[in-house]
Amino acid sequence: MTAHILVVEDEPQVAQFIELELKYEGYQVTVAHDGISGLAAARELELDLILLDWMLPELSGLEICRRLRDTGNKVPIVLLTAKDEIGDRVAGLDAGADDYLVKPFSIEELRAWVRAHLRRFEEEEEKELLEFADLTLNRKTREVYRGDRWVELTAKEFDLLEFFISHPRQVLNREQILEGVWNLDFTGDSNIIEVYIRYLRTKLEAGGEKRLIQTMRGVGYVLREN
Ligand code: CA
Repeated sequence: MTAHILVVEDEPQVAQFIELELKYEGYQVTVAHDGISGLAAARELELDLILLDWMLPELSGLEICRRLRDTGNKVPIVLLTAKDEIGDRVAGLDAGADDYLVKPFSIEELRAWVRAHLRRFEEEEEKELLEFADLTLNRKTREVYRGDRWVELTAKEFDLLEFFISHPRQVLNREQILEGVWNLDFTGDSNIIEVYIRYLRTKLEAGGEKRLIQTMRGVGYVLREN
């Protein structure tokens, strides 16, 4: 359910900036630093979006775009480019790119572009029913089941579980959980997360079911079967 984004960018600092930012936002991110490995990754991986630098060693972003479209690959592609002349834009769109992000760009622009182009991911986001293992969460009715057993949760417990089930198998640190569920800035000493995780586990495991919210000591928590 987590969107997988491929970043093809040869400038290490730019690549790292994008990677860290997108990972912080909760996306799965793969980075390639040249055109050949970028094209290979684009063909091998099941992706929701490609952020593709125009000027790359080995193979240009434009060429990668053209080759992917020629083989019927329809993944959304945003070209990252310092070029902002109209002629270049037309060439990029002709090659099959969906949009442009002109360098240098801000974190806010990056986030906005990524959201706008994560079409498939957004559709998933709209889903009412979220499932993980024997856990079912209904966003509309706010009901939770483990198998056939109804689990009664408070509003905050539901929000916390929804956050986990929206990021399955992904290690979530305290800052991400606080921001995602409580909309608070990280203060460093609050044990609110530990308290709520304990409540959730108690309720989710009341029928003797196995633990799904695992502790990653010193890192955070992850929704995983073992
Ligand atoms: Ca470049």
